Amino acid sequence: MLISEIFHSIQGEGKLVGMPSIFIRTSGCNLRCTWCDTPYASWEPTGVTLEVDQILERVSDFSTKFVVLTGGEPMIAPEVDTLTHRLQAAGYHVTIETAGTVWREITCDLASVSPKTGNSTPHTRDGGRWVDRHERERINIDVIRRFMNRGDYQLKFVVDTPADINEIDDLLTQLGPYDPANILLMPQGVTKEELDERSPWIINICKKRSFRFSPRMHISLFGNVRGK
Ligand code: SF4
Repeated sequence: MLISEIFHSIQGEGKLVGMPSIFIRTSGCNLRCTWCDTPYASWEPTGVTLEVDQILERVSDFSTKFVVLTGGEPMIAPEVDTLTHRLQAAGYHVTIETAGTVWREITCDLASVSPKTGNSTPHTRDGGRWVDRHERERINIDVIRRFMNRGDYQLKFVVDTPADINEIDDLLTQLGPYDPANILLMPQGVTKEELDERSPWIINICKKRSFRFSPRMHISLFGNVRGK
């Protein structure tokens, strides 16, 4: 499968924030979010082709047992099912980070699903040529629900403006029962200044709704750079 990067860092988002983890980033995505912070795995996918055995060997170089399979969209990577099973069999805690648009029989300890709201649609980027496909594919209720039903999960929403909460509410209504502690609101932004501007009002929404606030700690600590 095409791998953009494998690196050791700390998890900067979600329930496991702060956990030292090995990140395996697959390259290639079926969506084109306008604010995508990993364009080298979506808009312009690059990487090297590695077999599952080679990935396991690279992962074994690091000391932690926490692995985050991320992208791009790892659910479209060939052999992602084999990779997740092999990682778990080797004793790793596996988080899969997905937009929740594609279903396959993978295994994981935490499904980190980040449904993409309308703020992600690339109306102006690349002449708008991705708009129709992105709009068609960005939400798949059945797939998101399947991730929620299969075990531990978090729904991680990227919030740009206060109006986004209405769309998130509509989506949650369609999804049916959920635990608010598994609903995470995360500020949109690739600079510390952008995150600082949005965080206070997002925290207020979380307090009112008992949702969980997710920082983007890696951006605050390291900036939006690869391999950190
Ligand atoms: S789903 Fe993720 S990787 Fe794909 S374009 Fe959106 S933010 Fe980028």
